Amino acid sequence: MFDDLRELYQEVIFDHNRNPRNFHVMDNADRQVDGFNPLCGDKLTLFLKLDGDTITDASFQGSGCAISTASVSLMTEIIKGKTQAQAEALFTTFHEMTTGKEEHINLEAVGKLAVLAGVREFPARVKCATLAWHTLDAALKNQHEAVSTE
Ligand code: ZN
Repeated sequence: MFDDLRELYQEVIFDHNRNPRNFHVMDNADRQVDGFNPLCGDKLTLFLKLDGDTITDASFQGSGCAISTASVSLMTEIIKGKTQAQAEALFTTFHEMTTGKEEHINLEAVGKLAVLAGVREFPARVKCATLAWHTLDAALKNQHEAVSTE
């Protein structure tokens, strides 16, 4: 990865960590699931509003490291307006990208989420980046137990 691109990606992560998007409790959420990454201490609660099969709103609360906060902030932005199937497909693509299973990053598919591709070089941080998505997966499956990455 080119250094200037890396810098741009880091800038996006810092920005989302400083000013997380959709960072609030949602009243009358259709889905609410807690996620926890004991390895790092990242904690979040994800809230979703659904209209049939479509995610119409997403928000979160919690505290975590810069990677986990940026990841959940970006995720709540990108899943709004997506169907459940589209969101699950994004999770699969994101997981392949962050775990390095897919060498080539499909920018068209992941969009802004590409800024988190760098975590593949830091295996300990992969769970920080994927916590939000595991929590989303549980919420879409209508599970109520807290999600733990361990
Ligand atoms: Zn973390």
